[in-house]
Amino acid sequence: MRSAASAVPTVEVRPRAVVAVRRGHPWVYRDQLTDTPSAPAGQEVRVVGPDGATLGHGLFEPDSPIAVRLWTRGDASVSDGLLEARLDRALAWRTALFPPPNTTAYRLVHGEGDRTPGFVVDRYEHVAVLRTDGDAAARRVDWFVRALWPRVRATGVTVLALRAAGARPVAIEGTLPETVDVREHGVPLRVDLVAGQKTGAFLDQRENRVRVGALARGRRVLNLFSYQGGFSLTAALGGAVHTTSVDLAARAHATAQVSFRLAGVDPAKHAFVTADAFTFLDQAGRAGKTWDLVVSDPPSFAPSEKARPSALASYRRLHRACAAVLAPGGILCAGSCSSHVDATAFLATLDDDALGRADLCLRETFGPPADHPTLPGWPEGRYLKFAVLS
Ligand code: SAH
Repeated sequence: MRSAASAVPTVEVRPRAVVAVRRGHPWVYRDQLTDTPSAPAGQEVRVVGPDGATLGHGLFEPDSPIAVRLWTRGDASVSDGLLEARLDRALAWRTALFPPPNTTAYRLVHGEGDRTPGFVVDRYEHVAVLRTDGDAAARRVDWFVRALWPRVRATGVTVLALRAAGARPVAIEGTLPETVDVREHGVPLRVDLVAGQKTGAFLDQRENRVRVGALARGRRVLNLFSYQGGFSLTAALGGAVHTTSVDLAARAHATAQVSFRLAGVDPAKHAFVTADAFTFLDQAGRAGKTWDLVVSDPPSFAPSEKARPSALASYRRLHRACAAVLAPGGILCAGSCSSHVDATAFLATLDDDALGRADLCLRETFGPPADHPTLPGWPEGRYLKFAVLS
């Protein structure tokens, strides 16, 4: 690292990184730096190419394979005004997407996808939950909140909580309720803010839940990795004759049943099974059970690039087991949130050989919803895939 004329330190990147940065990739990997600077997490750095030209400014990560999260291109610095403008733009997009009152839970700020790398904010009714990714964002929480809070407060948010990875959320503003009731396209859902996974719910599947609801009429539905039962409830409201929700998390089933009641659906008429989905499928397959609509939405199988081959094998195994319990004329909805498995590779885990049957057609495929924007130059951001076969 060289000492620049300004107070902002400079890091130089190798030629390969120059292309990616120019295309809008928001990360500079550590192995693309020409030397390893000693700067604290969250320090603004100026990124230059081998010819000395400034590529952009970003925030430094000393202990991660991602060394710099880029915020700007060229000479613009990471200023308060820049952050405020990015937030205004992110919030205006959501205000346009979600006019009240039908959908009250959505992603307000989607990190890299909103060009605010490392900062994610989800809204649940009057509660906003901030999650940071990486040490740079963690160090800059106060800076981010100073810009965020007045903006979300102006839209009716009265509570702001911070959820660190693996930790329970803590209130920064207001008093955090344990649960909050939200609506997704009019469907009431209870969200467990304190003990739930992620920031409380998997908001990225909202539009796919609607799609499943539209396909469910008259069908017996199996919802694997069901969490708080969103797919099951939209299916039941869409006219499914019965739903079976399978998840390892017993507490999520309890929350799901509250949502069923809020929606006027009797949970006692549906099944909630606390089990490993693979074991459940093996047993159901051996017992000759079938369903007319199977939804599979597992957690990420590939936390790293190294885990990709084993993740692909797991998807194939899972999809074959799903196909084995799919009745003739049935619909298979298969999701993946592994960022290291792209859409093409994911679809290959649903081919005839993987499924062990040659009667299903790929009807539609979907990616992330509009409140989870991505960047064209950042393939890793398009982690969500959802395939509909019948
Ligand atoms: N479909 C859900 C989100 C699923 S997230 C929704 O629409 O909200 C993945 C879920 O898989 C989590 O709830 C987690 O508890 C569950 N899970 C993880 N491993 C599992 C396994 N082996 N068997 C069953 N459930 C599992």
